[in-house]
Amino acid sequence: MLGAVRPSRARRSWWLREALATEPDGLARAASPLVGSTTADVVVLGGGYTALWTAWRLTELEPGARIVVVEADICGGGPSGRNGGFATGWWDELPTLIGRHGADGALAIARAIDAAIDEVGEWCAANGVDAWYTKAGALTVSAAPAQDGLGRAAIEACRALAVGDELTEVSADEVRARVASPVFRGGVFMRGAATVQPALLARGLRRALLERGVTIHEGTTAVELDGERPGFLGRVGLAARRAAVGRGGRPVRVRTTSARGGGSVTARAAVVALNAWAAAWPSFGRRLVTWSSYIVLTEPIPDRLAELGWTGGEGVADGRFTLHYLRTTPDGRIALGGGGGRAGFGGRIGPVFTDDLVSAQRAAAGLRRLFPSLHDVRIEDAWGGPIDITSDHLPVFASIPGRPIHYAHGYSGNGVAPSVLGGRILAALALERRDDPALALPLVGVLPRAFPPEPLGYVGARVVREAIVRTELAEERGERGSRLLREVSRLPRRLGYRLGPE
Ligand SMILES: Cc1cc2nc3c(=O)[nH]c(=O)nc-3n(C[C@H](O)[C@H](O)[C@H](O)COP(=O)(O)OP(=O)(O)OC[C@H]3O[C@@H](n4cnc5c(N)ncnc54)[C@H](O)[C@@H]3O)c2cc1C
Repeated sequence: MLGAVRPSRARRSWWLREALATEPDGLARAASPLVGSTTADVVVLGGGYTALWTAWRLTELEPGARIVVVEADICGGGPSGRNGGFATGWWDELPTLIGRHGADGALAIARAIDAAIDEVGEWCAANGVDAWYTKAGALTVSAAPAQDGLGRAAIEACRALAVGDELTEVSADEVRARVASPVFRGGVFMRGAATVQPALLARGLRRALLERGVTIHEGTTAVELDGERPGFLGRVGLAARRAAVGRGGRPVRVRTTSARGGGSVTARAAVVALNAWAAAWPSFGRRLVTWSSYIVLTEPIPDRLAELGWTGGEGVADGRFTLHYLRTTPDGRIALGGGGGRAGFGGRIGPVFTDDLVSAQRAAAGLRRLFPSLHDVRIEDAWGGPIDITSDHLPVFASIPGRPIHYAHGYSGNGVAPSVLGGRILAALALERRDDPALALPLVGVLPRAFPPEPLGYVGARVVREAIVRTELAEERGERGSRLLREVSRLPRRLGYRLGPE
């Protein structure tokens, strides 16, 4: 089904290859690995959106601040350069947000995410970054009878809070007028959503930061933060070091390694923006599970898109928990992701996240099911990446108690827009700007429930995920699926996690 296409870590995503091809050579050299010791006001770990938006915001809040970013690969080499490019609002999360933070808190958060979507477009325009920002809204559609009624609670919640325009019900006919798939039924439309070319955004941020004098070290892996190391025994020595010094006293030290040797950064504050890789660090691992997601990309088929009526640029997702998300490109391709990846173990981000042909084939099968008329269309690329999921399916923006170490992760597959807000929050925390409006949002500092320790977490995630995938496939065939698998799919909800089908 994928032909000769094989997802592989050795090859960058199509998005990133395209973005890198536009860069002059000198720009690549501008971010050489760290060698030796250096100091900074703020050291940022990671080089994806969270890190880069944080660094950007730091330059806005304190133009003279010395900021050092350390990225193991290249900026955008991780999910920020390989995602679906959906910048989606949180209006569909409104019932959960109301339950957690009340109506006012929920509204403030959902509006902040919408503002983040707009900020991406405004930032690109102001900084000469053409990341294909297209604000055409997003459809979530039922693609099987079992998915009917999706989003109803969220639509009701929006109406009750007088923001009914943000999320509206659309009939099957209206859906098909926008995207003619024979399996699409009714759905919901979120008007404020946008799409981007993800890698052009990540690399554009990197270029703008270098121009602002931020120091970026690519090919530089953080191996120790304030005495903590990733891996099973990573906490050795940590508790004692933390207990010894209170807030504001001792600076934070990050040890690094690169092909050129070891290094270290000593800073007033550290920002951890490692996304799925944070799952390997003892301070964060218990609140994250990792899962792979794969995207397939077709050859350019602008005429076929016109036949489907899909020319408006809107993003589309189906109503599975292991959702398919699909969008078009300016040259008339379809990029479709999801369809059920695999769990990672113990925070290790290995080949299962990048080289898994079966998961890529599942995504390709999703494309064929949603658009049988495209059976002859060639798939030109496939790639995967890790998604870090929290127990309530919402990201965490928080600090390590008693230390100037701040972090954001757990975007649960929806980080393009929230990472902009994450950058605002982390920069304000790092500079101790307590009156910054971003810190007034009630989600700051809220920690999700921990997952069971390994290997229980891995085994549980794997078994439940497989049960969900099989049940949803059966439902798409018009069957109910096995009762046992349905029960297993619902296990996380029964245990109090906001994951899996209701
Ligand atoms: C296939 C796929 C599709 C997705 N689609 C969407 C979508 O359509 N819309 C959406 O909103 N979200 C989507 N997401 C999620 C989104 O990509 C992420 O939430 C977002 O990119 C997170 O940004 P980040 O900067 O926090 O993390 P990342 O982009 O993952 O950056 C973390 C970086 O840390 C680096 N790193 C790791 N360990 C170290 C270390 N020890 N030292 C230094 N650096 C280190 C990594 O190399 C990586 O570059 C998708 C994700 C995937 C994988």
